[in-house]
Amino acid sequence: MKKAYYIDYPQEHVEGQAHTYRCVYCKVVTTKINGSLEGHLPSCEYRIKLEQAGFEKNERSTNHCESLCDQMD
Ligand SMILES: [Zn+2]
Repeated sequence: MKKAYYIDYPQEHVEGQAHTYRCVYCKVVTTKINGSLEGHLPSCEYRIKLEQAGFEKNERSTNHCESLCDQMD
């Protein structure tokens, strides 16, 4: 199970910075998270929830597929 982008996490406005938002759980700014699950801290409630629900990190699942394909050749 995988999503292309992980952007449905709760966000809050960063005080004093007009267009900056961050995850309400791990406080990492959205530009740093950049739509990926691993952009959140490992301790982030949102990240933990999705990982427990079976969602894979984009990077790992891509690498996994590539290594499988290599073995088949
Ligand atoms: Zn987070």
